[in-house]
Amino acid sequence: MSTKHVYFFGGKTADGNGKQKELLGGKGANLAEMCTIGIPVPPGFTITTEVCAAYYDNGKKLPEDAIPQIDEAMKKVEATFGKKFGDTTDPLLVSVRSGAALSMPGMMNTILNLGLTDASVEGLAKKTGNPRFAYDSYRRLIDMFGSTAMGVEHEHFEHEIHEMKKEKGVKLDTDLTADDLKELVRRYKAVYKKDVGEDFPQDPKKQLMLAINAVFNSWNGKKAIEYRRIERITGLKGTAVNVQAMVFGNMGNSSGTGVAFTRDPNTGEDVFYGDYLINAQGEDVVAGIRTPEPIAKLGEEMPKVYEQLVGIRATLEKHYKEMQDIEFTVQEGVLYMLQTRSGKRTGTAAVRIAVEMVKEGLIDESTAVKRVNPDSLNHLLQPQLDPKSKVEVVAQGIAASPGAASGMVLLTAEAVVAHSEKNPNDPILLVRKETSPEDVAGMHLAKGILTSTGGKASHAAVVARGWGKPCVVGCEAVKIDEKNQQITIAGKTVKAGEFVTINGTTGDVMIGKVPTVPPSMSGDFATLMQWADKSRKLKVRTNADTPADAAKAREFGAEGIGLCRTEHMFFGKDRIAAVREMILATSEEGRKKALAKIEPFQKADFVGIFEAMDGLPVTIRLLDPPLHEFLPQKDNVRGAEEVAAQIGTTIQKIFERVDELHEFNPMMGFRGCRLPIVFPEIGDMQVRAIIEAAIEVKKKGKSVLPEIMIPLIGTVEELVLLKKRAIATAEECMAKAGTKVEYQIGTMIELPRACIAADKIAEEAEFFSFGTNDLTQMTFGFSRDDIKGFMPTYLKEKILPIDPFQTIDFSGVGELIKIGIQKGRDSRKAKHGSHLKVGICGEHGGDPESVVFCHNVGMDYVSCSPFRVPIARLAAAQASLGETARDK
Ligand code: PEP
Ligand code: MG
Repeated sequence: MSTKHVYFFGGKTADGNGKQKELLGGKGANLAEMCTIGIPVPPGFTITTEVCAAYYDNGKKLPEDAIPQIDEAMKKVEATFGKKFGDTTDPLLVSVRSGAALSMPGMMNTILNLGLTDASVEGLAKKTGNPRFAYDSYRRLIDMFGSTAMGVEHEHFEHEIHEMKKEKGVKLDTDLTADDLKELVRRYKAVYKKDVGEDFPQDPKKQLMLAINAVFNSWNGKKAIEYRRIERITGLKGTAVNVQAMVFGNMGNSSGTGVAFTRDPNTGEDVFYGDYLINAQGEDVVAGIRTPEPIAKLGEEMPKVYEQLVGIRATLEKHYKEMQDIEFTVQEGVLYMLQTRSGKRTGTAAVRIAVEMVKEGLIDESTAVKRVNPDSLNHLLQPQLDPKSKVEVVAQGIAASPGAASGMVLLTAEAVVAHSEKNPNDPILLVRKETSPEDVAGMHLAKGILTSTGGKASHAAVVARGWGKPCVVGCEAVKIDEKNQQITIAGKTVKAGEFVTINGTTGDVMIGKVPTVPPSMSGDFATLMQWADKSRKLKVRTNADTPADAAKAREFGAEGIGLCRTEHMFFGKDRIAAVREMILATSEEGRKKALAKIEPFQKADFVGIFEAMDGLPVTIRLLDPPLHEFLPQKDNVRGAEEVAAQIGTTIQKIFERVDELHEFNPMMGFRGCRLPIVFPEIGDMQVRAIIEAAIEVKKKGKSVLPEIMIPLIGTVEELVLLKKRAIATAEECMAKAGTKVEYQIGTMIELPRACIAADKIAEEAEFFSFGTNDLTQMTFGFSRDDIKGFMPTYLKEKILPIDPFQTIDFSGVGELIKIGIQKGRDSRKAKHGSHLKVGICGEHGGDPESVVFCHNVGMDYVSCSPFRVPIARLAAAQASLGETARDK
């Protein structure tokens, strides 16, 4: 028997079901599922994602045995819908759409009205009594088919319609008459023939086969590839193709089309949320060209249809137990559902919906925890406008994705990409009439997005919401003047490069920068986090260097500090002079004198941190970076003069020392544990400050758990030497104070050698903390600060699936980590009978996929920046719970 390539759906039956997303794509699976639960869906069939893979394996040809299955399914569609494909009196028209297992909105091709020919268009005109509608559909088909399936420039068709309107003296497409459109069809066909080299196909079957190929081809189109890269979508077979009977929302005022969410995707509130347009096709709502009406108004315009739709909303939520994003069309008073899928939502909405669905009894707590994409919590952690700041709202649009963003105005996505390449830290606000899938790269880099047209379901709104990026759409007061590189907002001119602020929570638009404040952690958020904490095994610590950061992280749920980078404390205004004096000193005595000035500051910082983390462990790393980082560079004469004056030396002396300290590869140079090995007095001072601070805080009745961490260990001998010295210093402090404090000494594992020799190192170390920033750098031999030049190409060419500084390189760095943990734990157990505590403190500690890896390899904790603590908590919980819902 040949493989089943084509799955029919229609009436109340379907060959497939909602679980077959991998095979039928999300759209196909859900269409099948809707049929089986009795929701009205126009009949159609799905060609599987396996056919897409075979199409590419076959050199872009459909497998032979798929074709008779397509014919067979088409016959069933005809029988169910009561019309014939290509019929000259009452033709069946179909849509041909993509649909992969994970949603990729607008990234692939769609062709509508397929099956119209010179003969059948007449039949459609007669049957509907609406020649205008028939010819409008036909010209749309030639345009869509020509540009997506045959590579004709869409602009060429646009030019013809523009000319036509000029000739007829009309402004809108809708002002063109049936005869005008008939003439336009003739001109479109001429454009098609000129560009393609043959006539527009008059055989509907040929149209269909070419359209199917076009959808498969779009799977590997530029924008689809870009989208998969940004969304980290990998491992899919391809897209399915859905061929479905067309129903028309543009057959007059008893027809219409809309898109809606079963709950508010911005806030999560349990209200029916969406837009519709009377007498329009689906693309008109999504493209943001006409500003649509809110869904509630449909209750006034078409009460019966609205009531049915509200019923379907409830049925779908009950069935899927999840918020749905739906598309519908009303053809002459009859409602059809065209799509349902789990709706993209902001992090704020995701949390509220998950928590409320548990309260409604639809899902359990673990499902709620798995439902929320950890990265989407970023959205709740977005800054909001400072309520104390005075703002002048100059215009208001539709609040499409919450949070506030101030940025330099740029008018095209390409400009955003170009600007960001040179100035990656500049905040940018992308301002456009509307956005399209071509714009995704620029949209991703922008801090926020503002559009002058479009509704809540426009491309800009959906994409921004998915990424948790503040966005305001449909702000009609914004006029864009690309030619002069400026915009006007309510009549006020803003040049490209000047600042505008948007509030995606309210839709407000302001000229200039407005201060923002951090968000507060609300009730639903706290509830979800409690559920997450119940199921996770990994502890979550934070990387923090100041008492303020430590306190903030504790509010976010940090269970200790996993990395306190002491060098950050050296840059303070009140201490940098002493640090420089220490570096410039040429004798041990000189260094000690300068270190004595730094010591009280260090101790005071540690006291603050220990107090903030009362009862929780605090890992303090000894000085790590090369010393020259603290000196002014040679092109900074003014800086050098200042330093010279501060510490009473000459700028020549300073520059001489800068020369002496110069290294060709500072990242592999005189840094980490190498510093206190050569200059023991630096390590002594730091250990003294840690232990004395711990004693002081303990005396205040607080519980302190200091962990002294030695960076960049490669051989156990380094550790033996430094540990011995640290213990001696600590003992001396405790003897002097007459008080003991418990402390541990451990090391960072940042070098491949340390992973391989972990058994030896663990004999001496009480804990390991994987410094995966350096470990990645040293394993690949990629300087972590210099990947800009080649990483984009590596990703584009799929040499690497993902930037390894962002997500752990599982097969290389990950393997080293596994070796390190195994060897380290085994040897610690054998030698001391104790458990070696293992954590991670590189940037990966806040990356959800890496957190799952850390869970799987049995680490005790991850440590990440304060704002990522909730994200890591949720990711850790999902790791314990197993499979997670990714297509949010
Ligand atoms: C690391 O290398 O992963 C690390 C945490 O240390 P740093 O980033 O300070 O080098
Ligand atoms: Mg490091």
